[in-house]
Amino acid sequence: MLIPLLVFLIPVFVVLTGFYFLAKVIADRSENKEISRESVFWISFLLGPIIGLIVVEVSPLKKETHPTKACPECAEEVNVQAKLCKHCGYRWTA
Ligand SMILES: [Zn+2]
Repeated sequence: MLIPLLVFLIPVFVVLTGFYFLAKVIADRSENKEISRESVFWISFLLGPIIGLIVVEVSPLKKETHPTKACPECAEEVNVQAKLCKHCGYRWTA
C-alpha cells in the first residue's frame, strides 16, 4: 500500500521541485520585460515552465525609464546624466 503511494508521490514531488527551480530561472529572464517577475514565476510554476518561457519571450521589452531632470532654459525633461540639453542646447557646468 505504501509503495504504490511513494511511486506516485516521488515523481510528483520531483516534478514540483523541478517546476519551482525552473520557474525561478525563467522569472530571472523577465528582468527587462514588461511582465513582472512574480507573474512569470507563478505562470511557470502553475502552468509549466514551457508556458512561462513562451510568455517571457513574447512579452515586450520594458521601456527604458531613465531618471530625468528639467532643463533650466527650456524646462524640457532630459536624461539626468545629460550635460547638454537635446532640446535647446543648454550646457550644465560641473
Ligand atoms: Zn533645454
